[in-house]
Amino acid sequence: MASICVCARWRPATSKEDGEPLCISRSDSQSFTLEDDKDEKYMFSFDKVFYEDSEQADVYEFLARPIVRDALKAINGTIITYGQTGAGKTYTMEGANILETDSNKKGLLPRVVDELFEAIKLCGETSAYKIKLSMVEIYMERVRDLFDLSKDNIQIKEHKGHGILLCGVTEILISDGEEALKFLSSGIANRAVGETQMNMASSRSHCIYIFTVQKEVANEKSVGTGKLVLVDLAGSEKVEKTGAEGRVLEEAKTINKSLSALGNVINALTSSQQGKANHIPFRDSKLTRILQDALGGSSQTALLCCCSPCRGNFSESLSTLRFGARAKHIKASSRVGCKDEMYDKKQEIPLSENDVKLKLAD
Ligand code: ADP
Ligand code: MG
Repeated sequence: MASICVCARWRPATSKEDGEPLCISRSDSQSFTLEDDKDEKYMFSFDKVFYEDSEQADVYEFLARPIVRDALKAINGTIITYGQTGAGKTYTMEGANILETDSNKKGLLPRVVDELFEAIKLCGETSAYKIKLSMVEIYMERVRDLFDLSKDNIQIKEHKGHGILLCGVTEILISDGEEALKFLSSGIANRAVGETQMNMASSRSHCIYIFTVQKEVANEKSVGTGKLVLVDLAGSEKVEKTGAEGRVLEEAKTINKSLSALGNVINALTSSQQGKANHIPFRDSKLTRILQDALGGSSQTALLCCCSPCRGNFSESLSTLRFGARAKHIKASSRVGCKDEMYDKKQEIPLSENDVKLKLAD
């Protein structure tokens, strides 16, 4: 993996949460402290933190735009939203609604579509781009085609020249932005939705949007293809908290398993980047298998950890942020009185006499 950009986003408190104590205290645009109700503090640093007053456009500019630009240059990229149900994953990905016209509420997907077709327009006649769209969801470890529900168990195969293939998946050739939004909207309407005791209509599946961007250069036989994959993951909440039983419990267990597999793949990729050649367990889940091309090689990846700002969701937020911190593998310095989540004990450098004095003076 060429690079992974890990960011956190705090959504505003909803009207139901009004007046509830919050668990976050801002430091700057990259760091904050998470506090539980016993005043335990956990400091986190990411590439960027989007606080509750952040705009949808800010998130797009920082996290998605460079990846979309690279897809036009035939570099694969992945954008993933992670977090518990209700944390703001879908709001970030789709916006208040996929067809939302209010620019403050427009999500990443419609902005990706705008950028892709804007670039095609600017490109003129010498080069021709072809944009294809597929949409699948992974529900109970089965891959369903959201453009054709009769294909409810798509097989994943690896092809020597073409990489990971979703056998028989519907690929729609898109000619403009309006058409793209129409198809996205119909795919979203086909998602499996379930109700949990967290009192929200929550998607119990991972939703994967795949844009294949092909560039044919006139008078040259070469074709460059960039795969741009956006993933709206299923809620990462712990099973006990949702009060799940029966089928819902099975769903939650399957979700947890695939999210752990994703974490393991990201960890293995980041450690092999640090010079340790190791096995990358892409085959452990359908999610990681589908993302194999997009995450491996020279691709760009962005992970957005979405969190609720309320103390009632403290433990879920802590677990979401720990997932992000592990993905980032950043070693920040330890601060006195603060549990530093990026602090890696193995990398500890012995304190000099001066450091000790500084610490005591704090
Ligand atoms: P998730 O997909 O993580 O389950 P949603 O994206 O559906 O969560 O968000 C839950 C609720 O919070 C929705 O009503 C959504 O409109 C609202 N919401 C989430 N993020 C924001 C935000 N940044 N600004 C305003 N409302 C938000
Ligand atoms: Mg959602």
